[in-house]
Amino acid sequence: MAVFKRKVCKEGHLMDPSWRICPVCLAPICGWLVVMNGESKNKVYTIHEGKNKIGSGVECELRILIPGVLRHHATLSSERVASAGKQVLHYKLINQAAAEAESVQVNNVPVQTQEIIDGDIIKLGDLGLKFKCL
Ligand SMILES: [Zn+2]
Repeated sequence: MAVFKRKVCKEGHLMDPSWRICPVCLAPICGWLVVMNGESKNKVYTIHEGKNKIGSGVECELRILIPGVLRHHATLSSERVASAGKQVLHYKLINQAAAEAESVQVNNVPVQTQEIIDGDIIKLGDLGLKFKCL
């Protein structure tokens, strides 16, 4: 029986077999999520500029294969905003787990859509992640 193997980059992004470089990874890195508890403690996930779907699903830019993390659990987007003549990045976390209101928290407060800043603690179910950005 032939096994269909998906082509993924080193960060787990789904790639077309004809692609030689991953378009998601080409976007500049602008932050990190650091796992704070469990077996994957201290594992670091990279955030690229733009929209990052967070979850266990293969379509996610931030693919977290840890029990309790949903297929598409949250979305983290970064956006360049002009401020006092400079371009600064603003980060927003969106709860995608609509059925469970408390499944996404920022600093222990359940959120639907929340702007986040460097050092914030994000919780996806029981998984704690520290947000670090440039
Ligand atoms: Zn990639």
